[in-house]
Amino acid sequence: MSTSARSSLVIVGAGLAGVRAAESARNAGHDGSIVLVGAETALPYERPQVTKEALLAGASPRHYVEHDQLVGRLGVQLRLGTRATGLDRRRRLVRTSDGKIGYDALVVATGAQPTPCPWGNLDGQVSTVRTARDAVLLHRVLTGRRRVVVVGAGLIGSEIASAAQALGAEVTLVERGCGPLEASHGRSLAEHLARLHRTAGTRLVTGAAVTSLVRAGASVAVDLGSGERIVAEHVVWAVGVRSDLGWLVGSGIRVAEGVLCTTAMVTNDPAVFVAGDAAQVVATDGPQAAPRSMSQSMAAAQGLVAGHNAVTPPGSWSRTTATPYFWSTWYDRRIQGVGVPSARSTVLQEGGGTLHLYEHRGRLTGAVGIDAKASVRRVRELLREGSSSGAHAAREMTGRPA
Ligand SMILES: Cc1cc2nc3c(=O)[nH]c(=O)nc-3n(C[C@H](O)[C@H](O)[C@H](O)COP(=O)(O)OP(=O)(O)OC[C@H]3O[C@@H](n4cnc5c(N)ncnc54)[C@H](O)[C@@H]3O)c2cc1C
Repeated sequence: MSTSARSSLVIVGAGLAGVRAAESARNAGHDGSIVLVGAETALPYERPQVTKEALLAGASPRHYVEHDQLVGRLGVQLRLGTRATGLDRRRRLVRTSDGKIGYDALVVATGAQPTPCPWGNLDGQVSTVRTARDAVLLHRVLTGRRRVVVVGAGLIGSEIASAAQALGAEVTLVERGCGPLEASHGRSLAEHLARLHRTAGTRLVTGAAVTSLVRAGASVAVDLGSGERIVAEHVVWAVGVRSDLGWLVGSGIRVAEGVLCTTAMVTNDPAVFVAGDAAQVVATDGPQAAPRSMSQSMAAAQGLVAGHNAVTPPGSWSRTTATPYFWSTWYDRRIQGVGVPSARSTVLQEGGGTLHLYEHRGRLTGAVGIDAKASVRRVRELLREGSSSGAHAAREMTGRPA
């Protein structure tokens, strides 16, 4: 028997958050229907591999779950290649490119999209990367091109630069700050990561803003505020993401940068939940709201909570308590971030790796490790325990302050 009166669950967005929501609803005892609506035609796949293995190999990433498991074991009705276009909350209907779907509970898991290049795609000479298809197309472009400019040295831009170099391209990486992740993680880490790019042979131009992109024959000219012009055969625009929530306009669901929700992943409508990159948790229902961490681990954790809560009564709702965590790989170096960065950081050496430890008012808040797996794991444990000071954490780590 179903655990709630909500017999039909509709999940919009067939990424990691959507899949985890479906699994979690079944685990919570939901025996009604589950419809998973996804704009992409592929089964949900490992999105982090888009700029890693998939870009290097020119092949689609692995699926999170196979068709038999999703449809057979979980009993999910798949509506792939279908885009949600509107929401009628009064009649509890999702409008899609392929008709209307009624729901008792709805989970929004529509992720995010790359910020588009203001100068357009110049007939395919400028691209952005989010999907498996993007990776396959970009692989072909990078393999055949000599000079490539990547704009934005965040996690994704840095991964693309690293893959492009491995594919034999001559790479220039253009970054507004003094190095990767400066705005979020501070100068010390940014300078460290900048050295990593330069040591690997990528030309990193920092403190640089792109002022125009224009076609120059078969090439693109990238003009910088400094007056420098870089000419390349292809440009990848990787300056961040934004949630594409236009289909919720007029529905009354509260939206800012993402869909606003509590740590129970419920929106201002108790029948509508949200998870993953589309979600923006606000601190209305607990001492601490989860920061907006667009990462794999957060999408999974929030998907589990949203799916569970969508099919159970409020008295048994769970909440997200996950510690933010991300990882990235550049030039075979493992970069891992845990917790929340703050203004003050200490740099420690661990074997061949480095750990940037963040603290606020003496308390440990997070860390970023470069080839420092064991230390990052320990910081994660200390953050979960919730009582560690920055000094205590530094003493615990293998090295001494550098
Ligand atoms: C290239 C890349 C590399 C990354 N690397 C890492 C990494 O190394 N480590 C890490 O922790 N995180 C990484 N991330 C972030 C991580 O992949 C995301 O945080 C995670 O995938 C978010 O999952 P999601 O389910 O919320 O969204 P998504 O995975 O974006 O899935 C959302 C799905 O919803 C669909 N959709 C959107 N709008 C609609 C609509 N209106 N109707 C129907 N369907 C819709 C989209 O097409 C998409 O398939 C990376 C992200 C990218 C793009």
